[in-house]
Amino acid sequence: MLKVENLSVHYGVIQAVRDISFEVNEGEIISLIGANGAGKTTILRTISGLIPSSSGSIRFLDKDITKLNATKIVAQGLSQVPEGRHVFSGLTVMENLEMGAFLRKDRKEKSESLEEVFQRFPILKERSNQDAATLSGGEQQMLAMGRALMSKPKLLLLDEPSMGLAPIFIQEIFNIIEAIRSQGTTVLLIEQNANKALSIADRGYVLETGNIVLSGTGAELLASEEVKKAYLGG
Ligand code: ATP
Repeated sequence: MLKVENLSVHYGVIQAVRDISFEVNEGEIISLIGANGAGKTTILRTISGLIPSSSGSIRFLDKDITKLNATKIVAQGLSQVPEGRHVFSGLTVMENLEMGAFLRKDRKEKSESLEEVFQRFPILKERSNQDAATLSGGEQQMLAMGRALMSKPKLLLLDEPSMGLAPIFIQEIFNIIEAIRSQGTTVLLIEQNANKALSIADRGYVLETGNIVLSGTGAELLASEEVKKAYLGG
């Protein structure tokens, strides 16, 4: 479904991503894990068309999307939930969700998606007229995920969805990610919470200073001594 080949990304003279290749198959949950600064966010933002690559290619559903802009990439069925949520404050929960469907024209389909999002996140229905800025961190994460789902993506990219959340919300977010996948949306997840991210992943990749240094099934990586030492606290 998504095929990244020999991708490199620079910020000026700094090379943040070094010639990496990986793929995501339809129906999978794939986790990219790595320490601060390993290049995880850069990879997601490059796939989403928010940062240009310096070399390599990104194919999505057999189409080369390497040079497409972010809006065109969303239109292909790929949607990103950014790190730190970035809900639109000053807009209500409902208005935030409507923004997620900005490319969709069919009103009936849009309202069906809204119903699905409200079923998945009942709290968003309860709070639909409230300013998004007044939601708790966990609720904002749900809103950001709901907003991305409003574009009816085939592939959802999640950037550190558990960051800064209380443990009870973290478990809920991971449960929701599994539920989203079981309803047919493929997921590419980046996380510092390696334990949780690998527990729900079919496969995963470990990033260090812009390189993929290890890959395997979620279970293989959880059992790997290298991963245990570096990312699972021994
Ligand atoms: P974190 O988990 O801390 O967000 P990350 O794995 O997502 O880390 P990136 O944010 O992709 O890592 O950063 C990769 C490297 O690129 C880091 O060395 C970072 O300092 C650098 N970098 C990121 N954004 C910029 C930028 N706008 N300008 C210059 N360097 C940047």
